[in-house]
Amino acid sequence: MSTIETRESQMFPVLTPQQVDSARRFASGPARNFAAGDMLYDIGSRGVPAWLVLAGTVDVARRDGLSREARITTHRPGQFSGEVNQLAGRPSIAAGRAGPDGCTALPFDAAHLRALMIGSADLGEIVMRALILRRVSLIEEGGAGTIIIGLPDSPDVLRLQNFLNRSGLPNLVLDVRSDEEGRDLVERTGVAPDDLPLVVCPSGPLLRRPSDEDLAACLGVVPDIDPDKLFDVAVVGAGPAGLATAVYAASEGLSVLVLDARALGGQAGASARIENYLGFPTGISGQALAGRAFNQALKFGAEIAIPVAVERMVCEGPYPVLFCGGARRVRARTVVIASGARYRRPDVPHLNELEGAGISYWVSAIEAKLCAG
Ligand SMILES: Cc1cc2nc3c(=O)[nH]c(=O)nc-3n(C[C@H](O)[C@H](O)[C@H](O)COP(=O)(O)OP(=O)(O)OC[C@H]3O[C@@H](n4cnc5c(N)ncnc54)[C@H](O)[C@@H]3O)c2cc1C
Repeated sequence: MSTIETRESQMFPVLTPQQVDSARRFASGPARNFAAGDMLYDIGSRGVPAWLVLAGTVDVARRDGLSREARITTHRPGQFSGEVNQLAGRPSIAAGRAGPDGCTALPFDAAHLRALMIGSADLGEIVMRALILRRVSLIEEGGAGTIIIGLPDSPDVLRLQNFLNRSGLPNLVLDVRSDEEGRDLVERTGVAPDDLPLVVCPSGPLLRRPSDEDLAACLGVVPDIDPDKLFDVAVVGAGPAGLATAVYAASEGLSVLVLDARALGGQAGASARIENYLGFPTGISGQALAGRAFNQALKFGAEIAIPVAVERMVCEGPYPVLFCGGARRVRARTVVIASGARYRRPDVPHLNELEGAGISYWVSAIEAKLCAG
């Protein structure tokens, strides 16, 4: 059974009138009225607040594959919109429209939503659980997110799928050989086989065989880094060490930026089951551990930029400056290097040319499926 079937009441909780009253003091603006059918937020819009419904209803929908929409739920008074992206002002994965009688709703932008979660333990737990479960449900429904059209066992499809899965971003792969809709789109856009896979971002743009960086930019998941801002802490690496640093520093009120060249969770993110991590007596998958740490870091206001490789560190004046891929510069009072280990590769000629095409390191469940039979 899906998350939405088994945990609906936790995904879409109804706040009591007392809880609505205590939430009000964290709102980022006054309540707004929307007429029937008005759009509160659309798929792909950035900086969308979470809305707490005070009166009327909000119908929420997601994409379902290439050209369809699917209903998710209807929010009623005491219910709130949003999922994990709203914690960081990232683009919305769903769309919300005022129901047939319109609605009145209170906005909570990312900073105010985080303040609510930290300022009210009772509400914080309810809201955080709901946002995470909604993301889990969107991941289960794949078609709500990025759509990759190509050959499922090609290195580029595996690379993109790994990046999206490791980042906790919903996605769906359509096999260009057997999926009619996917094949039609490839034919209509005239994409040459060498330009596959074709990637459709949730907000509509089409990318041809994008790099992980191009896909992340299209999805709006890399925050704009202000080159003049002086962070208290810049962390290189989003493995368990880097994410732990982010949670502890941000929860003490320090401004934190985490940069990782590849994916969330580092090596641990590739582990099917970790049995020896403190606090998880029944074990936890590396991806679940990384996802929890990521959400916890976002909740305390840490900024997380993936994939961004740090290429050099230079001391300019009193503080270090990090020079990163894409000509980004990061200034910070403190730099924590949590870049993990790099393993020696076997010394075999031309090995690197076959990486991802038969030779893999850190193989995941995605590659395992290719070995069926
Ligand atoms: C398949 C697998 C299973 C494992 N299972 C277990 C287990 O069950 N129990 C256990 O205790 N340990 C396990 N380990 C080991 C454990 O995952 C590591 O010890 C742990 O991840 C180290 O954490 P870390 O944060 O120090 O570094 P890493 O997890 O290695 O993370 C470092 C991060 O830094 C990033 N990075 C590196 N250089 C740069 C740069 N220049 N710019 C930006 N980013 C950069 C990398 O992309 C990476 O994401 C496992 C490892 C693997 C691969």
